[in-house]
Amino acid sequence: MSFFAYQLGVQQGSPPLRSHRDTLAWLAELGLPVNPLSSELETIEAVADFCEQMLDQRHSFGYEIDGVVVKVDDVAQRAEMGATSKAPRWAIAYKFPPEEKTTLLRDIFVSIGRTGRATPFAVLEPVFVGGSTVGLATLHNQDEVARKDVRPGDTVIVRKAGDVIPEVIGPVLAKRRRGTKRWTFPTQCPACGEPLVRLPGEADHHCINVDCPEQRVQKIVHFAGRGGMDIEGLGEERVRQFVEAGLVADAGDIYALTPEKLVPLERIGQKSAENLVDGIEASKTRGLIRVLVGLGIRHLGPTAAATVARALGDLDRVASASVEELTAVDGVGQVIAESVQRFFAIERNREVVDKLRTAGVDLRAAAAVGPVRDDVEPVLAGLTFVLTGGLEGFTREGAQAEIEARGGKVTNSVSKKTSYAVVGENPGSKLAKAEQLGVPILDEAAFVRLLADGPPSD
Ligand SMILES: [Zn+2]
Repeated sequence: MSFFAYQLGVQQGSPPLRSHRDTLAWLAELGLPVNPLSSELETIEAVADFCEQMLDQRHSFGYEIDGVVVKVDDVAQRAEMGATSKAPRWAIAYKFPPEEKTTLLRDIFVSIGRTGRATPFAVLEPVFVGGSTVGLATLHNQDEVARKDVRPGDTVIVRKAGDVIPEVIGPVLAKRRRGTKRWTFPTQCPACGEPLVRLPGEADHHCINVDCPEQRVQKIVHFAGRGGMDIEGLGEERVRQFVEAGLVADAGDIYALTPEKLVPLERIGQKSAENLVDGIEASKTRGLIRVLVGLGIRHLGPTAAATVARALGDLDRVASASVEELTAVDGVGQVIAESVQRFFAIERNREVVDKLRTAGVDLRAAAAVGPVRDDVEPVLAGLTFVLTGGLEGFTREGAQAEIEARGGKVTNSVSKKTSYAVVGENPGSKLAKAEQLGVPILDEAAFVRLLADGPPSD
C-alpha cells in the first residue's frame, strides 16, 4: 500500500500555510510522499490543457487515476469562497470519460436471483479495464441482449459504468466471425429446470418455482448480508454448501445450525464452525429493521423498513397489519403496504418468521433501535460500538448520542459481538483487544463517514 498526501485535516503546530503549494511543500519537507505531477496553473485554458495531457498519459503512471482535481491555491480566497452543503466551492474534480477495452465474449449465461429473476450475463475473456480485471458483466434482460445483439464468440467493447460496474457496450461487428447466431433466452431455469416465465409488459424472466434451490440460496445470502442481519462468514459459497447439504432451506433454518452439524462438511473446521455459529447467535439482537430488510420484502428498502418498524414496534404487528393500517403510517404508500401484506399472507414466509421467533431472534423495534432522532436515518440499527481514546469533533457522550440516534448501541467492553471500535487519540487497552478479536477499527474520519452513510452495503 502506498499513498500521496494531498491535504491537511486539522492543523496543530504547523507553520502558517497560506496556499496549497505551501501545504504540499511542507508535507514533502516532513518526508511524506507528495504527487510530483501537481502543477500550479495561471489560466483556465492551462487547466484544460493539463487535464487533456493527464488523460493522454493516464496509463503511464503505474497507478490508475480517474481524473484531476482542480483547486484554488490561495487559502484566504478559499475561505472567502466557502462551501455549499455538499462540497467546497474552491475545488472541483475533472473526471475522465470511462475507459473502453475490447475482449472476447465467451458465452452468455443466466443467473437466478432471490426473487427468481433471471438475469443474463456475459462471460468475458478477462480484461483489465478501469483499474481492475473484468471477467463478468451483466446484460440485464432479454431485450438488452437483443438490442446490443452480442453473441457468444463476438469481440465486444467493455467499460465500467460510473467506473465501477462492468458493462458490455456492444459487439465489434468488423470482427464478427461467420456463422455466429443470435443468442436466445433459455426456456428453463438453469438451477431447477422449471420453465422461465416472462409476463406481458415485463422486461424480466422469472423462475416461478418456489422450491428453486438457487432462489433459496440467494434469499438466505440476502438475509445474512450486510444490509440484513450482517452475519460474518455466511456468504454465498457457504450458504450454497449448506443448502446442498440439506441443512438449511430458508433464513429461519440458519439459527438451528450447530458446530456439530457443520464440522462434517467439507472445508469447514471446528474453529470456523464455532465462529460462524457465534456470528449467527450475535445476529439475534439486530432488531426489527434489519429483520425486515433481511426478509427481502419487495419495495421495502431500509428507510421504509425503519419507518414501519418504528411505527408498529414488533414483527407480529407488521405481519398482521392490514393495508389500511400500513398506509396510515407516515411515509408508507399503497405499493409498499400491499407488498408487505402480500408477503406475510404467504404461509411459507410466516413459517420463516415462526422459526426466527422460536430461535429467540429479537423481533421488536425498540430494543435495538433506542432513541431515534427525526433528522437522521437509523443506519446503525443493530450495530454495537466501543469507543476508546479522545476524538477531535466529539465528546464521548456526544459520540454515543450520535450512534444511539442512528439506532446503534455503545458498550464498555470489546467482545466478538462488537461491530466497530472507534479509536481516537491515546486509546486504551480496548484497541488491542479489538485488534485481537478482529473487530473493525474506525478512526474519526471513518466514523464520521459511517454516521453519514451507515455501513457499506454489498
Ligand atoms: Zn429455478
